[in-house]
Amino acid sequence: MSAPPVPYMRHQCHGCGHASAATDFRVCPGCGGPLSLESLARPPRAIFEQRPESLWHYRELLPIPEGVAPVTLGEGATPAIEADRLRARFGLNRLLLKNETGNPTGSFKDRQVSVGITHARHIGASTVVAMSSGNVACSASAYAARAGMRAIVLVHGHAAPAKLRQAAAYGGQVVRVPTDSSREVIDLCIRASEEFGWYHLTTAGMHERYNVEGAKTIAYELYQQTGGDLPEWVVVPVGGGGLLGAVWRGFEDLVRLGLIDRCPRLCGVQPRECAPLAQAIDRGWGFRESLAHPWPAPKTIAGGLADDILFDGHTALPAIRETNGLAITVSEGEILEGMRLLAATEGILCEPSSAVVVAALAKLPPESNGVCCVITGSGIKDLDAFAGSAAGPYPAATTLDEFRALTGGAG
Ligand SMILES: [Zn+2]
Repeated sequence: MSAPPVPYMRHQCHGCGHASAATDFRVCPGCGGPLSLESLARPPRAIFEQRPESLWHYRELLPIPEGVAPVTLGEGATPAIEADRLRARFGLNRLLLKNETGNPTGSFKDRQVSVGITHARHIGASTVVAMSSGNVACSASAYAARAGMRAIVLVHGHAAPAKLRQAAAYGGQVVRVPTDSSREVIDLCIRASEEFGWYHLTTAGMHERYNVEGAKTIAYELYQQTGGDLPEWVVVPVGGGGLLGAVWRGFEDLVRLGLIDRCPRLCGVQPRECAPLAQAIDRGWGFRESLAHPWPAPKTIAGGLADDILFDGHTALPAIRETNGLAITVSEGEILEGMRLLAATEGILCEPSSAVVVAALAKLPPESNGVCCVITGSGIKDLDAFAGSAAGPYPAATTLDEFRALTGGAG
């Protein structure tokens, strides 16, 4: 299965600068590194003035040719809300939350899977296979159902049980691979896709460069939702680094189109227990060196971030370096506290893999001029992570006196 060229897209290497319209290279013919897509399209300014109904509003910047029907459940077009109570808690002058929990299956991965599965169907695939810690499993299974296709999801040891039940409910075939290494599961995925002719839908840009394009639309939406008055920082969770790289490339599209002068500073956040991005930044490593140093035995409650290597390091590392950004790590305790704080101050229940961005707010430079946190996935899928009072047991009452004793009564 190879894709017909899309006239306005180039396949570009961030390593040696190679760029071409040809679609049949799996890796860069110049240096053997991964390729990513780059749009040359110049859509009318009006698309940034009309409110989007889904990410397909921006289809001229996506790698799906005109006339191809998207596989869509209404993904994207998520709210960006001012978070005044949380802002005050951290002494910030402005805090926006880009709330991705409202996507059709509860995470930002729907943006990527909608684009990826549309591409898969367009080139004639009937089965998709993906490695997942849970969110991609749900998304791939739901969108495959929508498209009348078959989804097979390979999950590693960090997957939350509720996510696997959700994926299976959509009809996805869930297969456990008993390892803690994302790299090993992806290798198996790639071999299965080659042997059986399945479309490889894993959201790891170094192996599959189409689906990650869907995540760029978060940058386009933020530009519109702020009227172009973007915050100094955009803070995103990092597992393989695909979201970080995509948000950077989305803002770079806006620079190319003359809509903004420069990309906001980008901050990638990882659990301290699995931090290959922070390690590569600290040590000055490039993509190849980072690949040569997988994180040994990741162990974190943020299962969506438990990737032992940066599958999108070719875009995630320059996203930090070229925007004068930061890679921040947070402890397991800080992640749980971030999850509790976001729910209790702003009414948004996120999963541990999203809560890292709340924990990072205390670690940004104090003079920061505006921050946007991307809240990537719903906590409803991972409630077992919740400890403390929210986990129960809950007291019982049947009389008014008992209610008064429990709650303090009026007020
Ligand atoms: Zn190259």
